[in-house]
Amino acid sequence: MPGVLTLETTGSTNPVDDLVQPFVIEKSGVRGRLLRLGAPVDTILTRPGYPRPVARLLAEMLALTGVLASTLKYDGVFTLQLKGEGPVRTMVADMTSDGALRGYAGFDPAGLAELEAELGPVADAEEPLDVRRWLGKGHMAFTVDQGPNTQRYQGLVELSGPSLADCLLHYFRQSQQINAGILLAAAPPDSELGGDGWRASALLIERVPEAGGHQSPSDDLTEISGEDWNRALILTASCTRAELLDPALPPNSLLYRLFHEDGVRVFPPRPLSVGCRCSLDKVENILRSLGRDAIDEYKVEGEVVMTCEFCAQDFRFDDAALDRLYARHVETGGKGSAQSL
Ligand SMILES: [Zn+2]
Repeated sequence: MPGVLTLETTGSTNPVDDLVQPFVIEKSGVRGRLLRLGAPVDTILTRPGYPRPVARLLAEMLALTGVLASTLKYDGVFTLQLKGEGPVRTMVADMTSDGALRGYAGFDPAGLAELEAELGPVADAEEPLDVRRWLGKGHMAFTVDQGPNTQRYQGLVELSGPSLADCLLHYFRQSQQINAGILLAAAPPDSELGGDGWRASALLIERVPEAGGHQSPSDDLTEISGEDWNRALILTASCTRAELLDPALPPNSLLYRLFHEDGVRVFPPRPLSVGCRCSLDKVENILRSLGRDAIDEYKVEGEVVMTCEFCAQDFRFDDAALDRLYARHVETGGKGSAQSL
């Protein structure tokens, strides 16, 4: 139930996982969000079976995507994309306005093995991974796509590191003049922190009171005093990785533990899930745009197999299926346009 948290209401029947819990610190008006992800992040990471450092990075990125997307008012898809020159070359995560998350990572296995050998096991490290080591020189890009005939919102920032959260804060300060504090955490299934699978979490506070969010930061900045803001930052920073990830610690109990001295009010949580938007239609369009000759070269044992990078689903085409596909192509005339899944 929404309302001011008390010791009695923190243990209520609210869902405890796979959600974003918005809140406001009553005394200062600082707004925030706590994200918790269990099964969806585990599904996304284990379907393709990523190496552990890649999975850890992608888990942190999914938490960041979910918490950022939840601060924006949009009807469509929010996408966060990382590109680098290091062993991890690319990471993409997106979330629909319905809360469906997906993500994938592309990496160079040899470079990755080399860095793993140098740094040792990192998947369960206390500190978030250093993007400057794993991704190297590169950038982080945000897009909000609300469909055809709408303006695409886009933001870009260098991967200045060290952590993903630091990159985001850098972006906020540089391009949006927003003061924020953020913690990101992720842990593998065999962590002592207690999950059955991969888990990820994020805690974000913003110096943006009341309605408006990112749209009108400057009007609201003066309403929260420096002292109140610093206090909110200190309280947020006191939250440990174990607390963020503990499946036995409900979000409301954690928020109460962190902020109860100043009063904390919660709003209805927003559920998160895993969902891919790939489809046979989209795959067929890609094949048509590449042309029959180019596609035939990819045939293995009489089949062309297209695998969705996000959900690892295979789309298989034998000769008969390809004949049908390109016959229809000729009938409708011209090439389909290439598009991402
Ligand atoms: Zn898919």
